Amino acid sequence: MIISTGTASGKSLAYLTPAVASCLDGGTILYLTPTKALAADQLRALRELRITQVRAACFDGDTPFEERTWVRQHANYVLTNPDMLHRGILPRHAQWSSFFRRLRLIVVDECHGYRGVFGSHVAQILRRLRRVCARYGSQPTFLLASATASEPGAFAKRLTGLEMDEVTVDASPKGSTTIALWEPPLTELRGEGGAPVRRTATAEAADLLADLVLADVRTLAFVRSRRGAETVALSARAKLSDVAFSLTPHRTPSTAKTSPTDSSLDRPASASPSEAPEDQGSTGPDTAMQGASAVSPFGWNLADGERADLAELPDKIAAYRAGYLAEDRRLLEKALRAGTIMGLATTNALELGVDVSGLDAVLIAGWPGTRASFWQQAGRAGRDGRNALAVLIARDDPLDTYLVHHPQALFGQPVEAIVLDPDNPYVLGPHLCAAAAEIPLTENDLPTFGSTTADVLDDLVNQNLLRKRQAGWFWTRRERATDLADIRGGGGAPIQVVESSTGRLLGSVDEPSAHSTVHTGAVYLHQGETFLVELLDLDAGVALVSSGNPDYTTFARDITDISILSTERSHPLGPGTLHFGEVEVTRQVVSYLKRRLHSGEMLGDEPLELPPRTLRTRAVWWTLPASAVAPLAEAGIDLGGAAHAAEHASIGLLPLFATCDRWDIGGVSTELHADTGLLTVFVYDGHEGGAGFAERGYARATDWLTATREAIMSCECERGCPSCIQSPKCGNGNEPLDKRGAIRLLNTLLTPEQRMPSPPDMAAGGC
Ligand SMILES: [Zn+2]
Ligand SMILES: [Zn+2]
Repeated sequence: MIISTGTASGKSLAYLTPAVASCLDGGTILYLTPTKALAADQLRALRELRITQVRAACFDGDTPFEERTWVRQHANYVLTNPDMLHRGILPRHAQWSSFFRRLRLIVVDECHGYRGVFGSHVAQILRRLRRVCARYGSQPTFLLASATASEPGAFAKRLTGLEMDEVTVDASPKGSTTIALWEPPLTELRGEGGAPVRRTATAEAADLLADLVLADVRTLAFVRSRRGAETVALSARAKLSDVAFSLTPHRTPSTAKTSPTDSSLDRPASASPSEAPEDQGSTGPDTAMQGASAVSPFGWNLADGERADLAELPDKIAAYRAGYLAEDRRLLEKALRAGTIMGLATTNALELGVDVSGLDAVLIAGWPGTRASFWQQAGRAGRDGRNALAVLIARDDPLDTYLVHHPQALFGQPVEAIVLDPDNPYVLGPHLCAAAAEIPLTENDLPTFGSTTADVLDDLVNQNLLRKRQAGWFWTRRERATDLADIRGGGGAPIQVVESSTGRLLGSVDEPSAHSTVHTGAVYLHQGETFLVELLDLDAGVALVSSGNPDYTTFARDITDISILSTERSHPLGPGTLHFGEVEVTRQVVSYLKRRLHSGEMLGDEPLELPPRTLRTRAVWWTLPASAVAPLAEAGIDLGGAAHAAEHASIGLLPLFATCDRWDIGGVSTELHADTGLLTVFVYDGHEGGAGFAERGYARATDWLTATREAIMSCECERGCPSCIQSPKCGNGNEPLDKRGAIRLLNTLLTPEQRMPSPPDMAAGGC
């Protein structure tokens, strides 16, 4: 069963109830979440139930070794993550035999996080888990909990390999939420090629945060990085200091003009001195809500008790980041509920581990990537069923531009389908090895792992990774089979990210991504914290980083070549043709761009020396015949620049149709491609073997390319800017680009009259 509903709709209760009942009945429960922090919070919630028969424990990388035996032998409610299941629990299933024998329920929480390559790995881990359970004679129920998603049952089936029922009706009480779409203005600053630069989303977020706090509106601002969140909090506090100063009694009344929207300032500036600073410890969540006496411009009742002395105004805004201890988080929750803190700027780290149900407004600085996460973040606003406000502030990105100009793309639209591809041979192969190491594979296991299993097994035998014997397939090597799968990366030996001063391992990045994310000089974000990469040593497989506070961000730029290995599907599109198939991509990161954090101003392009990398992956591409492009060339359009601009914008828009990040995909465009002999634009999955994104682009090509054209047309810049056709990762320095040409080119491609006769549902492409 999958439950796919919004934030605070009671999903936890829906799985806790059967889970606890199973424990009382002598069964065991396995609870899976993508992160350790969420598991720790669930553990706390379980312990607060004070049911002695529920012996809950976390089992993850942080669990001390002396505790692990206890967990294996005595816990009946084990909270863990896919990584630990993959590396720690499944390979040692024999030590867990009594747990597996009694396993009744597997809860897969926050399962919308299992998408793309990571999701494909998790899908195979769950298949291994099912096989191990069968070995011990148990057939546990899978209960999945997800944020709102499109076709959750189909996704859940892909993830678990089992038929799934879905629950999608959310009957929890909610007020209405006003959604504002906010586009920052163009500034006088000039970026690459003299393109105008927009005011940044963080600068706008800081202003809005200050305004809302002044209006006594409890507000949460979501900002991408911790550094960004801190900047937003600092700027908003500075703004409040100015206001407080201008309104203190020593000033003449004429300077204390209050705008009609600043209802919190209606009160005389000489605040009652008897109002002592609120004591976090004694101010309960209820006391602050008593004595409602004023109404904010948004219609919420305000309590006098919620108003602070003007001097304390700036202290009402704070920043929050990942890595806070549980006690700090609880204090913060308390301060938010009590109104001691009215405005909080945070990375999405807050999604994991802080309960902030009592909010009036949410600011989202930059499109959070998917409609699903947008609604999840917006859903944070609205306490006790009251009305709320959510503001999306656009960043300079084609997708953000498109959305603020096309509200219909947000409202009344289903959220994205969660895309994953468990059949990717680069994912399946390592898990078949791991499964064989757990329990030798037999013919009976083939259906569990999907239709391509037999072929992949043959490959593994040829590579001497598995041995075929009469009884089945065996892992006979000395190394650990689980080391073959890097589940959070894209295959290949991962690069370790190490803090140079302490030797602390921060995480790992798969080798292909390492070139663009942890190259020497890169600003690297880890759980919202900012680090500077001192050195990327590919031979040693290490990136040395140090904690830093640069006032810029970096974008790696690469040069890409692409060749077509095979075409799997094709269909006509306007006068051209759309294709999907396997490609070989050769990418070389050649430099990186620095842009100032707060203003977005370009600071320069630094060269890098990294070897080219080859990637076999899947791509969607379209071609136009010479007869279709000739009129454009005659009209003076730079075809190369037009195709290049269309490629950039289409990469920016694909995340609207597939749950990917623009960094998960890449593109190549050319006026004349060697393999097609035509003007060709490719968009490919940036992961070995593919991840399902390009396939989704093929299936939704008309909508996707129409949205691409709309995004370019919506931007009011004249010749192209980062909000439409410029790409921060362009290896050619965003040259050449032809904005008007791109619109004409896409018009040609999307003109249905010229389309060859074809069945109307061709665009569905079999997906
Ligand atoms: Zn523009
Ligand atoms: Zn480019």
